[in-house]
Amino acid sequence: MTSDASSQLFEVAKRLMPGGVSSPVRAISPYPFYVSRAEGPHLWTKEGQRLIDYCLAYGPMILGHRHPLVMERVVKQLEQGWLYGTPSELEVSLAKRIVGHYPSIDMLRFVSTGTEATMAALRIARGYTGRDRIVKVEGGFHGAHDAVLVKAGSGATTLGVPDSLGVPKDTAKNTIQVPYNDLGAMEAALTGFDGEVAAVIMEPVLGNIGPVLPEPGYLEGARRLTEEHGVLLIFDEVITGFRLSLGGAQARYGVVPDMTTLGKIIGGGFPIGVVGGRRELMEMVAPSGGIYQAGTFNGSPVSLAAGMATLDVLEGERTLERLDSVGEDLRKALAQIVEDLGLSYSVVGTASIFKIFFGAAPKNYAEALRCDKAGYLAFFRRMLKAGVFLPPSQYETNFISAAHTDDVINETLEAYKSNLLG
Ligand SMILES: *Cc1c(COP(=O)(O)O)cnc(C)c1O
Repeated sequence: MTSDASSQLFEVAKRLMPGGVSSPVRAISPYPFYVSRAEGPHLWTKEGQRLIDYCLAYGPMILGHRHPLVMERVVKQLEQGWLYGTPSELEVSLAKRIVGHYPSIDMLRFVSTGTEATMAALRIARGYTGRDRIVKVEGGFHGAHDAVLVKAGSGATTLGVPDSLGVPKDTAKNTIQVPYNDLGAMEAALTGFDGEVAAVIMEPVLGNIGPVLPEPGYLEGARRLTEEHGVLLIFDEVITGFRLSLGGAQARYGVVPDMTTLGKIIGGGFPIGVVGGRRELMEMVAPSGGIYQAGTFNGSPVSLAAGMATLDVLEGERTLERLDSVGEDLRKALAQIVEDLGLSYSVVGTASIFKIFFGAAPKNYAEALRCDKAGYLAFFRRMLKAGVFLPPSQYETNFISAAHTDDVINETLEAYKSNLLG
C-alpha cells in the first residue's frame, strides 16, 4: 500500500463513487492522480508532480488552463450573479457569434452538455421527420444517452445491440450502425430502411477512438446520400467545433449538415452544449414548436462568458493558425521518431489533434480496435512518469492548447523519444 495522497483519496473515493470516479475514463489503474491546480499547459498533482497536459479535459481547454481573459470574464460574471432563470444578453451575443461562424446554423438552443445537445438533435430530427430510426457511425461517441450507446452488430447494417446495461432493446433497435469511411454501407442502410431513418449522426472526424480522418469524398458522399434519401445529416462537432477551424469540420471540409452539435470549447471549460441547425428544424423546438427541450442550466451565464472570452482569443490572435502549425510540426516530428525507432506505429491527426496508434493508421472503428491497446497503456504510464499526461487510452485523442509553447513541445518530443520503446 503506497502512502501518497492520490492513492489514499482513491481508497475513500471507491467507497463513495462507482469505480471511485465521476466519469469512467478517469479510472486510471491502479489509481488516478488527483490534481491540485492547473495553469497554461500544465497540471500539478496532489503529490506535487508537474505534468504537461495533452488531455486538456478531453478537449475543452483549447487556450490552456486558467487563461487570463477567461478568468477575468468569469470573475466579472460572478460579480453580477451566476444564474438568473431568465434570459441574459450574453446568450444573444454568443448565439450571434456562433451563427456567424456556422452558416448551416440559423438558430440554436444552449444546453449544458454535449450529451444533451445530441439528445436534442436526435429528438428534433425525429420530430421533424416523424421517423424513429437513426444511423450512427461505429466508434462515434455522442455522449452517454440511450440512443447512441449502441455498438455495432456483426454486419454493416445490423440492428443495434445495446452497449450498456439499462438501454432498452426497443431503443437500441432504432440505432443502425455503419462503419466510418464506408459509403456503400451507409447507402445500404438508408436503402434498407428507406423512409424509416430520421437522421445520420456522425462526428465528421472521429475523435473518440483516437482521431480517424475522413477519406476524400466521404463527407461529401454522406451529404449526397442523406439528401437523396430525405434523411437529415447531423454533424456532432463537440470536439471539432472551434478546433478544426472556427467554423468546425464543416467549414474545413466544405460540407453543410442540416444540424450541428457543439460543446466543449465553446464553454471555455465550463459546462455547455449547443444544438443548432436550419430555421425550419429549430423552429419546431418548444416554446415555438412541439419538440420539447428544457434545462435549469441552459445558457448558464458563466459558461457563456467563458465561451465569449474563448472566442475573443480564437478570433483575435490567429490562435488556430498557430495551433494548426504546432500540430503539423509535432506530427511530423513524432513520425520521424517512430521511423527512427523502426516501429510500425502511425501518427494520425489534423489541426491541433494528434495520436500515435500502436499499429497501422485506422480508417474505421474495427481497424482501430486492432491496435496494441496494452502496449499503449504501458507507454501511457511511462509518459506519466516522465511528466507528460496523455489521455489514458489508445482510443482517446490528444489535444494541443495555445499555451503549449515550443519549449513544452520539445520537452514532450524528448519524452516520446525515450519512452516510446518499452
Ligand atoms: C464529449 C463528446 C460528447 C459529449 O459531451 P459531454 O459534454 O461530455 O456530454 C458528444 N459528442 C462528442 C463528439 C464528444 O466528443
